[in-house]
Amino acid sequence: MEHNMDEKRKISLQRADELYNEIEDFLQFKEEFLRETAKRRDIISRQHKKELMEYFGASPEDWDDWHWQLKNRISSVSTLGKFIRLSEKQQKTMAEISKKYRWATTPYYLSLMDYEDMSYPINKMALPSPEENDASGELDPMGEEFTNPAPCITRRYPNRLIVNVTSSCAMFCRHCQRRRLIGESDRIESEANVSAAIEYIRNTREIRDVLITGGDPMMLPDELLEKIISRIREIPHVEIIRIGTRVPVTMPQRITPELAEMLKKYHPLYINTQFNHPGELTEDAVRACERLADAGIPIGNQMVFLKGINNDKYIVQLLNEGLLKARVRPYYIFHPKQVTGTKHFQITVEEGLKIMEYLRGHTSGLAIPQYIVNAPNGYGKIPLLPNYIKESDESHARLKTWEGREVEIGYFDGQ
Ligand SMILES: *Cc1c(COP(=O)(O)O)cnc(C)c1O
Ligand code: SF4
Repeated sequence: MEHNMDEKRKISLQRADELYNEIEDFLQFKEEFLRETAKRRDIISRQHKKELMEYFGASPEDWDDWHWQLKNRISSVSTLGKFIRLSEKQQKTMAEISKKYRWATTPYYLSLMDYEDMSYPINKMALPSPEENDASGELDPMGEEFTNPAPCITRRYPNRLIVNVTSSCAMFCRHCQRRRLIGESDRIESEANVSAAIEYIRNTREIRDVLITGGDPMMLPDELLEKIISRIREIPHVEIIRIGTRVPVTMPQRITPELAEMLKKYHPLYINTQFNHPGELTEDAVRACERLADAGIPIGNQMVFLKGINNDKYIVQLLNEGLLKARVRPYYIFHPKQVTGTKHFQITVEEGLKIMEYLRGHTSGLAIPQYIVNAPNGYGKIPLLPNYIKESDESHARLKTWEGREVEIGYFDGQ
């Protein structure tokens, strides 16, 4: 059918209306969310920060100093109770759980919390909940202990591996998938162990990608971190170095200009972080990411699907679009594992896939990460994709578009 110019324009305009209808609900959600968030930021968090600084007798310079943030972490229920409204029963349960699983939050992350509502996502990621008492699940669902060919090393792939340099973190996330190792102590790996790990890499020529993680490697002082990175950089067959860290989220003060200056000497260097909720994208957190990006470091985000926090298509869209604005590329979304004490965060693969299916088409491809399940026994990452194939054989494939239209493609050498 031939169309003249006017008809073509008319059809395009109709299509544009159709597309607007696809996003109208999200735009409404976004407007409300941003209004609510602005109120939290500009009024509530600012007030919290002021109160916390008063309580600790801190200056603005103290607050912006990551050493101060670390030294003044809140880890006792009675201190927390001075800020967050907790019933006596809640206090008692929290104190009990903290004997089993340590908790601590930086004053910064505490300032983002809701002092009245323990179900607010930021509270839930940081503060112990009675549901952690549920004993089902496993402590080491990935069998990390069987993929450990040298001290500090986890190797599951032919040409890349992980070096764990510390078991310490700025905050002990309640959903942590490695909680059997994290938080027991603030242990930095011994020099002997780190040296043995580096020796292993040096002697294993196929390793071209080294991922430094923990715990959180940014807990190390600059000098120690630089020593480890520079020794890895010296190995000729190591092409890229990656650092996994959550400090841009939980303690953005750690990303100092000095740190960025140091890191940029060791390119190609990549950083992956873990934002799980758009409420974490504060001015401080965004500035930390921009500082790393300005140092030429590509930053990726590894979200974890968590019930009650981000198992919502609009929250994931807002988070990922916000990350792109902060020059962070959504890299992975992890399906939560069955780690003991994290049952209340569990979602199903069906639920996760529905969210992934929604994202495609409704937002930039750059805002769509890969959805990953970690296989048991350390067998590696499994990517999950909604099913777009209706049927396929040697001559054709019937596929589904993001809007659910069925289309068919053929092949040149088919019928
Ligand atoms: C996740 C992981 C990696 C990195 O995987 P990529 O898909 O390359 O990001 C490397 N080693 C281990 C043990 C891992 O768990
Ligand atoms: S920063 Fe990472 S390793 Fe540390 S507690 Fe949080 S999720 Fe676990």
